Amino acid sequence: MPPTLDPQFRKVISDRIRYYNDLGIYDFYRRPGAVVTAGTSGEERFGMAVTTESKSFEMAEKKMADEGVRPTQSDPAAALRLIREDIGDCTRCRLHKQGRKQIVFGVGNPRADLMFIGEAPGADEDMQGEPFVGRAGQLLNNMIKAMGLLREDVYIANIIKCRPPNNRTPERDECDTCSPFLMRQIEVIGPKVLVALGAVAAKTLLAVNAPMSELRGRWFDFRGRKLAVTYHPAFLLRDPRQKKEAWKDLQMVMKELGLKPPEKPAE
Ligand code: URA
Repeated sequence: MPPTLDPQFRKVISDRIRYYNDLGIYDFYRRPGAVVTAGTSGEERFGMAVTTESKSFEMAEKKMADEGVRPTQSDPAAALRLIREDIGDCTRCRLHKQGRKQIVFGVGNPRADLMFIGEAPGADEDMQGEPFVGRAGQLLNNMIKAMGLLREDVYIANIIKCRPPNNRTPERDECDTCSPFLMRQIEVIGPKVLVALGAVAAKTLLAVNAPMSELRGRWFDFRGRKLAVTYHPAFLLRDPRQKKEAWKDLQMVMKELGLKPPEKPAE
């Protein structure tokens, strides 16, 4: 009969696997001899199941934690480069063969306090390899300026990193495949506040299916960070009357971050 895992240890393992999945790592292999059965004490359980490499990784993690340094916090720009390398010339979902020119990773300050998250790259973004560079991007830049910031101060990314054909809404499985890389970016950058631009970004991040009217104007907890939802700039281009409402959302964010709008230049 195969050995059964003690429930407590099973939970430790499944939490750990979930953590790695969030980092975009799905493939694991088992070393021969790493068999753990019910009834073994906690220390022994770890001793038996954890390989030398992962032990030294844990020791490095512990040392950094003791020194108050998270690996990603010490050099977020390098950590972001690593994530980009892990993505490579991605073929993980169907979008790689549906006309995308390049991966649109994300742009901005690797230590930003504020991060904007859109839906997916469009034609301009696909061409230039940078999120929000088309008309919607110009409006996003103006929104950022109105908050007293520059585009370079914040970080901008999307739920998915490849342009869907004809700018269709990303499919669920595309979001599921791609978003772990975004989760890693968020973890590395460590923003105080996230702003989801539009319903697709909001619903994907929050795993809820609610209308914008229920998502705007309030704070959500997103993995211990504050998340606000506002209208997508492309929507605001189609319905500029809603800019007033979006400004209310941004003011809520500014209050949280202690930002003041820039003084208007004297007439
Ligand atoms: N719309 C998005 O959601 N993201 C972009 O990068 C551009 C347009």
